[in-house]
Amino acid sequence: MNRVPIPPELRIKVAETAQYRCGYCLTPEWIAGTPMEIDHLIPVSLGGQTEENNLWLACSLCNKHKANRMTAVDPITGQHMPLFNPRWQIWQEHFQWAAKGAQIIGITPIGRATVAALRLNQPSLVNARRYWIQAGWHPPLR
Ligand SMILES: [Zn+2]
Repeated sequence: MNRVPIPPELRIKVAETAQYRCGYCLTPEWIAGTPMEIDHLIPVSLGGQTEENNLWLACSLCNKHKANRMTAVDPITGQHMPLFNPRWQIWQEHFQWAAKGAQIIGITPIGRATVAALRLNQPSLVNARRYWIQAGWHPPLR
């Protein structure tokens, strides 16, 4: 896929607004050990532009599973729902931490669809979060 390069100053602006953490799983860049990726909220393949209002940070796992989607199925209702939009929606209104922060629970249809689609509780991530909890690094306070 041809991608418009993201100007470094725009990347910094998006990263600062996103507090240098993934908009979906809230993993901070400094814990992830790898740079966060720029997520096009409306995917480029669906006409999304490389402009600030359409960009947010995502970890490589969330970005990979989000791919070029904007919707996913709520596993409880079976309805297609929009994926959570970290720029315009508030994380705490759609998700909460469970198991002391090791797991993310969707508390709305959007939250549930996003947890399922982006696999926010894949075993490797849940396991890593358990170590981060022990270290006192996780879950984020807000
Ligand atoms: Zn993530």
